[in-house]
Amino acid sequence: MRQFIIAGNWKMNLSVDQSVALAKDIVEISKEIKKTSIVIAPTYLALSKVADVIKGSNVKLACQDIHWQDQGAFTGKVSIDMVKDLGVEYVIIGHSEQRQYFGETNETVNLKVKKTLSAGLTPIICIGETLDERNGGNLESVLSAQIKGAYQDISKEEALNTVIAYEPVWAIGTGVVATDEQAQDTQAFVRSVLQDIYGEEVASALRIQYGGSMKPDNAAGLLGQKDIDGGLIGGAALKADSFFAIISAAEAQSK
Ligand code: PEP
Repeated sequence: MRQFIIAGNWKMNLSVDQSVALAKDIVEISKEIKKTSIVIAPTYLALSKVADVIKGSNVKLACQDIHWQDQGAFTGKVSIDMVKDLGVEYVIIGHSEQRQYFGETNETVNLKVKKTLSAGLTPIICIGETLDERNGGNLESVLSAQIKGAYQDISKEEALNTVIAYEPVWAIGTGVVATDEQAQDTQAFVRSVLQDIYGEEVASALRIQYGGSMKPDNAAGLLGQKDIDGGLIGGAALKADSFFAIISAAEAQSK
C-alpha cells in the first residue's frame, strides 16, 4: 500500500526567520498525523535552523536542488553531502522552474538522481508537460522521455527509493489545476511507463505525487484518484493552515 506524501516547496520565498516560524507551526499542527509523510523544502539558508525545529517530529526535510558533483569550482551550487549533513532526507530534482530558467535537462536530472540515491537520500523527480506540448499531442512522448531520462541506469532497488511528482507546467503557480480525471489519466500513464522499465511490482510501489495549484478545496478530489499518492505544493504550502488542510485531506483517505 502506498503511503501519501505531501511535500511543501517553499521556493525562493520566506526569510530564515519566517521559515523557522512556519516550520514550528507545521510541526505543532501535524502532531496527530500518523499515516501521511510530510516534507518541507525551505531555502538552503534555512535548512539548518528548520532541521533543529523539526527534530523528533513527523516532518521531514527536503532541499530544492543539488549539484551532481561532490565539490569543486561550481559557484553558487550545493553538494549532496552538504545538505545531508544538515539532515536533509529528500531532494527535489528537475522542477519545471529549474528546467525552464536554469538549463536543467533530462541528463542533468539523471546525474542528480544518481547522486542523491548514492548518498541514501530520496529524490523527488519532477516531470510535466507544457500546455503547447499537451495541446500538440505530445504529452506522452514528453513524459516518457523525462521518465526514461531520469531513470537511466537506475536499478530496480534504487528506483524503489524515489518519488515522482507529476506537475503539468501549465498548472504550476497559475491557479489552473488539472481536473481529477486529467491528473489520474496522466499519472496512470506515468505508472505504465515505470512498469515498462521496471515491471509491475516496482511500478505499483512507487509513489507519484500531483503538483500544480493543489489547494485545500481541490486536494481531496485529486488525492482520491487511484494513481495519485500525494502532492507537491507551492503556494498553498506557504501558510500552515492551507498546507495542513491538504495534509488532512490525505490523512483522511489514507490508502
Ligand atoms: C510547484 O511549484 O511545485 C507547485 C506545485 O506550485 P503551486 O502549488 O503553487 O502550483
